[in-house]
Amino acid sequence: MLFLLLLIPFVSASADYDVQIVTQYLQTYGYLTHDNKTVSSIGVGGNSSSFQEALIKFQDFFRIEATGELDNETITIMKKPRCGVKDYPQSFTLYDTKWKKNKLGWKFVYGNQQDKSIAEKCFAEWARHTNMTFFMDERKPDIVISYGSVKHRNFYRCKNSSACPFNLDGPGGVLGHAFFPDSSNNCIEIHLDNTENWFKEVGTFPPQNYHSLYYTLLHEIGHSLGIEHTGVNTAVMYPSLNDNRKSVELDQDDINAIQSLYGLPPVKRR
Ligand SMILES: [Zn+2]
Ligand SMILES: [Zn+2]
Repeated sequence: MLFLLLLIPFVSASADYDVQIVTQYLQTYGYLTHDNKTVSSIGVGGNSSSFQEALIKFQDFFRIEATGELDNETITIMKKPRCGVKDYPQSFTLYDTKWKKNKLGWKFVYGNQQDKSIAEKCFAEWARHTNMTFFMDERKPDIVISYGSVKHRNFYRCKNSSACPFNLDGPGGVLGHAFFPDSSNNCIEIHLDNTENWFKEVGTFPPQNYHSLYYTLLHEIGHSLGIEHTGVNTAVMYPSLNDNRKSVELDQDDINAIQSLYGLPPVKRR
């Protein structure tokens, strides 16, 4: 239904609503600034160039044909479950891109054994490829993982505010988000949508409508270490979270990213 309406986005009033959804997506993920008065101007044949430019930017990022139009391929990608972090985060937000230490503690707030075991595997996979070690730290963690509802709190006073400025959105859509490292080595948080059906096994495909906690967390941890989204669709840091990834390992693109931040893993002693 959505697809049919989007095929004729500039014709009917109901179609305008879909343009609104797309505009919101492009704004949320950094392709379009909020001051572009796109929604109202498009429907009446106004200046839609910024909207088209944003679409082209989106299509370039996801490495599909840059038509500048709401074609099938574009809509399909936009509808996929994804990470809530912007694809183009470089704006007014100031943050340093890396930690200034090589040993980081983590905590899974209210996480059960299964959650903690998955988190441990995720951290181990990142650690395997770079000069960084991770350990569980219940007392003074650097990276704090928790499940949250649509409007949710920060669990720790990592940031000035206790309310997370980014909402989650219920089942599907955004699965989680994470903060980037800051300049003072303050703790940072990863928030996972508690309304998702989380699949908590590693190395097998989740059933339909379930999402892999391992891949989602592996991805969000990437942000918490300072890695932004990539357009390489085999990479863990691709914005759409691919539950049906066969490998539990990082992609070469992810490995290049983490090594550019923290270097090669220390040489193992025999
Ligand atoms: Zn992400
Ligand atoms: Zn949050």
